[in-house]
Amino acid sequence: MNLILFGPPAAGKGTQAKRLVAERGMIQLSTGDMLRAARSSGSELGKRVAAIMDAGTLVSDDIVIALIEERLPEADAAGGAIFDGFPRTVAQAEALDRMLAGRGQGIDRVVRLKVDDEALVQRIAKRFEAEGRADDNPETFKIRLAAYNTQTAPLLPFYRAQGKLIEVDGMASIEAVAKSVDAALQEEAA
Ligand code: AMP
Repeated sequence: MNLILFGPPAAGKGTQAKRLVAERGMIQLSTGDMLRAARSSGSELGKRVAAIMDAGTLVSDDIVIALIEERLPEADAAGGAIFDGFPRTVAQAEALDRMLAGRGQGIDRVVRLKVDDEALVQRIAKRFEAEGRADDNPETFKIRLAAYNTQTAPLLPFYRAQGKLIEVDGMASIEAVAKSVDAALQEEAA
């Protein structure tokens, strides 16, 4: 199964993806994690994306599409993947469809974690205190949220039109969200 966990930054996508990896042996493809790994390794790519990530804006489509493409053989071997933080633009979504179609596959489900902006701002303030991730600071977070609202949220009608979108209340506890995500994976998309 190919699953997209969809939602704004701090919606809980990473938490749910990691749980599904642990419980079901699925693999998680997080472009945010890949880009952070590139930065910590000091690679050329890491250097190229550092300032963009710190500003809270989106890295170019070509870069993230190439990162995902590189990992698709691994996803094939695992019988599919959980896409976390990708796609974030219509161009990325179209590229993903093309890359999967070339492998005789497609996206099976898009599970959207719905969390309101106010709750996200509070969550991220806590994460900033706990983890100190530079792009979680309140000013940069506002920019990340704006990027989500203008560039990523337009994907919702794209996936709704394909009948793949399932919406889950992401404001509930981690356990309750986990139950809803599991139910969404059983259900036929509406
Ligand atoms: P994340 O951890 O998913 O919130 O990603 C952290 C940062 O990495 C984002 O604010 C972007 O700068 C960059 N990034 C991650 N995934 C993507 C993507 N699919 N498209 C563009 N930029 C991305």
